[in-house]
Amino acid sequence: MKKHANIPIFIPHEGCKNECVFCNQRTITGTCQGSDRDIVPEIENALSTISDGYDVEIAFFGGSFTGIGIDRMTRLLDTAFEYVKSGKVQSIRLSTRPDYIDEQILDILKSRGVTHIELGIQSMRQHVLDACKRGHTVSDTEKACRLINDYGFILGGQMMIGLPCSTAEDEIYTAQKIGEMGAKEARIYPCVVFEKTELCNMAKTGNYIPISVDEAVTRSTKVYYELKKHRINILRIGLQSSESLSDKNEVYAGAYHPAMGELVESRVKLEGILSAISEKAAEYHGQPFTVECNKCDLSKVIGHKKSNLEIIRKAAINAGFSDISIKTNDKVKQNSLVFHFGQQSEISE
Ligand code: SF4
Repeated sequence: MKKHANIPIFIPHEGCKNECVFCNQRTITGTCQGSDRDIVPEIENALSTISDGYDVEIAFFGGSFTGIGIDRMTRLLDTAFEYVKSGKVQSIRLSTRPDYIDEQILDILKSRGVTHIELGIQSMRQHVLDACKRGHTVSDTEKACRLINDYGFILGGQMMIGLPCSTAEDEIYTAQKIGEMGAKEARIYPCVVFEKTELCNMAKTGNYIPISVDEAVTRSTKVYYELKKHRINILRIGLQSSESLSDKNEVYAGAYHPAMGELVESRVKLEGILSAISEKAAEYHGQPFTVECNKCDLSKVIGHKKSNLEIIRKAAINAGFSDISIKTNDKVKQNSLVFHFGQQSEISE
């Protein structure tokens, strides 16, 4: 399989007339900057750093790309599409709001080589959308997903953890709905409270309790399992530092961690290993227990600052295994674990 390279083109806030309580894009960038810029130098510059043999994708990010106006949108897409036609780029992706999708827009996207559409779904509970002043409904999201699927685009769902009035159950429900609505990809964003946002004022006045990093990891892990049940490819967990932090863009509170995705995947690995220990302990009492992983996954298995290691060791010894070891083996597929209980082996995907 070819390696993938992404050329991100950030179109900040433009076209968005909403005031989602958690959003600080207006504060950072002001309005209406950037969508009339010439994106050729950005694309050329990025292409010059990508070696041959990669599948290259141009990705318009920023939240509401299809709301920036037909003229600006088609100009940007026409530029990107030239690169697709020349064979230098293989696909075009964009992200937008559910209520900025209709047949006219999808016709334009289809005719200009767009392949992937990511929707800022955030929650499938109306009371959460209302509490966040999202300005669209759950049925807007359902309709947009239906249309995107009917047109044959690859649908992605972006959702948030720890929004005002949202519970862990609401988030699992949202993940379940994202699967049922036909998404093939997803991003999970634990809620970060930025300065100069309404959410920040709500937190300062006690009208919103920000979630901690630990709570975000626990809740994102549950959502991760639900999305995986629907065979959804999870593209990202947590904001990229470039998306979230700058001098103008300070974090007041909430679930910001530069390696949020790694923390969640590490929790998933830990829970998988602990559940194998408790399932097999009686059968293999007194025998050694070994976990093998690809070397790319070792840091996730042992955990951030080796936090998983001691937990796994104690659990294995308390459960009656004679010894516990964690080894790397390049024959083990990435994201898989191989467990050895005495002489018996088992693969965990
Ligand atoms: S729709 Fe997106 S860009 Fe607009 S205010 Fe909400 S989060 Fe910000």
